[in-house]
Amino acid sequence: MSNPSILILPGDGIGPEVMAQVTRIIDWFGEKRDLKFDVETDLVGGAAYDKHGVPLSDETMARAMEVDAVLLGAVGGPKYDDLDFSVKPERGLLRLRKEMDLFSNLRPAQCFDALADFSSLKKDIVSGLDIMIVRELTSGVYFGEPRGIHKEGNERVGINTQRYTESEIARVARSAFELARKRGNKVCSMEKANVMESGILWRDVVTEIHETEYPDVELSHMYADNGAMQLVRAPKQFDVIVTDNLFGDVLSDCAAMLTGSLGMLPSASLGLPNADGRPKALYEPVHGSAPDITGQGKANPIACILSFAMALRYSFDQGDEATRLEKAVEKVLADGARTADLMGPEDGTPISTTQMGDVILEALDASL
Ligand code: NAD
Repeated sequence: MSNPSILILPGDGIGPEVMAQVTRIIDWFGEKRDLKFDVETDLVGGAAYDKHGVPLSDETMARAMEVDAVLLGAVGGPKYDDLDFSVKPERGLLRLRKEMDLFSNLRPAQCFDALADFSSLKKDIVSGLDIMIVRELTSGVYFGEPRGIHKEGNERVGINTQRYTESEIARVARSAFELARKRGNKVCSMEKANVMESGILWRDVVTEIHETEYPDVELSHMYADNGAMQLVRAPKQFDVIVTDNLFGDVLSDCAAMLTGSLGMLPSASLGLPNADGRPKALYEPVHGSAPDITGQGKANPIACILSFAMALRYSFDQGDEATRLEKAVEKVLADGARTADLMGPEDGTPISTTQMGDVILEALDASL
């Protein structure tokens, strides 16, 4: 049997810096846990544009379709801001999501105790928080037609269309129910069925899938605006939240801030299972390329490292090893390891990106 395969796309800005720490961790699992991966590295975003004139080459796209998991760092930066929309770095990421048909975006919002003071909310509201937002990623208003800006009389009109088919709703609902079964067994579905027909259909289909396939999971429904309020009022009431592309974009960023820093947030985007049962999968930190700190050794690699932990759990069926890695991160934070984004101005000297990698590797060693 060959090893499971990973395509690493470090991308731009701090992407390569944080991904370098993930590579060390992948090597550690190979050496110390006999969990070996066939790893290859390629270009995406501005880095791919510089070499190929496109933000993702056809060859790289083809490899992404073949491997068991793709790990991506970040794309974009000021150097590319004036490029034509069709070749902007972000288009590389959108192409991956679209062609791999990654319809289910998993964004955990987990509050590590050691960082509870960092949240914008009171410690008792976020301490111990562990929720998962499942966002539909390939349909809805970001993709619906008609779209565009056109002239009506003397003024311009901007149009986007929210469109969902039953099957698009059903597959992301299944993804949320499956996850809930492995967690707290609760799903809250969010839409705006009070004012949007697509919301009425969303609620109908989620209810139908629940009744016919997942009656053992607790299901509730909430209007997305109330969901936003509840997320900052009492976030621990939730286990898994499932919602559409637009509301998911907003709600997952809102939930993200409950946990403190952008440098801590992983994500997974999953598609339908391949013949071997593994879903097509892309793992990436939530943050961008952070041009303001690129090349300074200041980037926090934890979001990218926790994205690899999600790959261990969701692509490679290595839940115990994923937990080992997450516990190692938890331990170094409890011991006081902090990159600059996790410190206030009075809190002493931060450690560098590489030093954070060092201490996490030490904690992994100590876990054996
Ligand atoms: P950003 O996430 O890059 O940075 C926002 C702030 O958070 C910055 O102050 C940055 O220094 C800080 N930050 C982000 N990640 C950090 C980390 N790991 N450690 C420490 N601090 C961190 O968002 P932005 O500034 O709005 O965007 C910068 C570029 O990234 C843009 O070109 C944007 O289009 C792109 N972007 C890419 C992605 C992606 O690749 N998925 C996501 C968002 C933004």
